Amino acid sequence: MRDPAPVARHHRRRYAIAVAEEAQKSDPVLKPTRNRGNVGLISDVFLQGGEMLDITGGCLCGQLRYEANAEPIFSAVCHCKTCQKQSGTAFRVVIAVPRPAVSIQGSPKIYTRTGDSGQQVVNRFCPDCGSTVVIEPAALPGITIIPAGTLNDASWLKPTMEIYCDDAQSWVQLGGATMQRFPKMHHGG
Ligand SMILES: [Zn+2]
Ligand SMILES: [Zn+2]
Repeated sequence: MRDPAPVARHHRRRYAIAVAEEAQKSDPVLKPTRNRGNVGLISDVFLQGGEMLDITGGCLCGQLRYEANAEPIFSAVCHCKTCQKQSGTAFRVVIAVPRPAVSIQGSPKIYTRTGDSGQQVVNRFCPDCGSTVVIEPAALPGITIIPAGTLNDASWLKPTMEIYCDDAQSWVQLGGATMQRFPKMHHGG
């Protein structure tokens, strides 16, 4: 019998590309221009070419947990002020997964703010320990952002880009030729 996995995989990939390209259309920062030069098709940058992963994680105290069986759409080191403030440190590593793949167990509280895009960003966080476990930007409707520090297993993770480098703390030099650097490029935050 034919293994149905390759077909499903193909569909997931198309979905991921559609989500990424939709995000690019709605966000002028992401639009490719000759001047910026470093932004090609968003799918080239974003798509990890990865595999389906059982992504699980949760908050510090453990009452809030999430899981997603998904192929990450992108992963990034974000230097933006919101990530600095919310994480309490110099930058935050985030991964993006298809929103329908994510399920949450426990009782999150919701904090909503207006992102750079001018659209709402929903943060779901633990009311007991304060960890934000998922971020749902209206600007990226098909995408859920997961702060990578909340992952149970981050051993597979290799961020492919640094974003909001304009806001990076001056001492931070992550190096690594494999990461593309962008002055901005919002992740919905
Ligand atoms: Zn907690
Ligand atoms: Zn950020």
